[in-house]
Amino acid sequence: MSRIVHVVKDDCTSCSLCADTHPQYFRLDSDDLAETHNNGANVNNAEIPDGDIAKVQESIDDCPGECIKWKD
Ligand code: SF4
Repeated sequence: MSRIVHVVKDDCTSCSLCADTHPQYFRLDSDDLAETHNNGANVNNAEIPDGDIAKVQESIDDCPGECIKWKD
């Protein structure tokens, strides 16, 4: 079981908290807006395995823009 996560870029504040905390799933694009990824693939459509869902949920809960969303 896994889940898909993405960033609603229009609401991103570019604080970089998600990318600093979990760089394996979050990075900033050339406009300093966050996006999700899997080692550079699945850009803004990252697949999160069961074992990492809780840590990504922490990023969702801590995001000041409230713009990290599960797709399912
Ligand atoms: S934590 Fe939220 S507001 Fe900050 S860079 Fe990540 S997605 Fe953007």
